[in-house]
Amino acid sequence: MKILIVEDEKDLAKIIKKKLERENFTADVVFDGEAAIDKTIVNDYDLIILDIMLPKKSGLEVLEELREWKDKTPVLILTARDSIKDKVKALNMGADDYLTKPFAFEELIARMKTIFRRGVKEHSNILKNGDLVLNTINYTVNRGNEKIDLTSKEYSLLEYLMRNRGHILSRAQIEEHVWGYMSGNNTNIVDVYIRFLRKKVDENYQNKLFETVRGRGYRMRSFKDE
Ligand code: CA
Repeated sequence: MKILIVEDEKDLAKIIKKKLERENFTADVVFDGEAAIDKTIVNDYDLIILDIMLPKKSGLEVLEELREWKDKTPVLILTARDSIKDKVKALNMGADDYLTKPFAFEELIARMKTIFRRGVKEHSNILKNGDLVLNTINYTVNRGNEKIDLTSKEYSLLEYLMRNRGHILSRAQIEEHVWGYMSGNNTNIVDVYIRFLRKKVDENYQNKLFETVRGRGYRMRSFKDE
């Protein structure tokens, strides 16, 4: 069982990690909301323990993004915010449980086990945007009834844009995520690959997915599932 702990109180995060490991869980820790999103893109967690008040992106924003792209990883909110309103909001947004600080570790474990018993996790290996469909298991891409052949870099770029659809991604973000380094020497590799994708994925279709946002980067337009 692999757990992601998203908690900006570093001491608390470390204690939770240590205690989870003692219960034979594997745990990653991140201290802000953006890092949480990055982690969930590359890892498949069985549960996310999510604080609400976090730097960069709040826990609720993280939850919203996950559910928006149909990531059904169970989320247990662990927060000092204890109003009924906050709880209802988080649960309505797709949180699986809600525990307020201060908390007893035994209760956290018990609630985690309840979530696992419910078996709420459905792996969503299929990403959809309008008539574009990505299968993240076998890396196939379809638009409508057409199969689209992509190189592995083109696929990685497409999946990254797809998971962040509706949001602007800077060239630096894209480059770091897809190519894994910060070149810093202003290569136009991202523009080149966007051009490849436009040709393969957009050119023959009416709904254009890729949008250039001047001075900021690129965004994949979000279309309703068809
Ligand atoms: Ca916090």
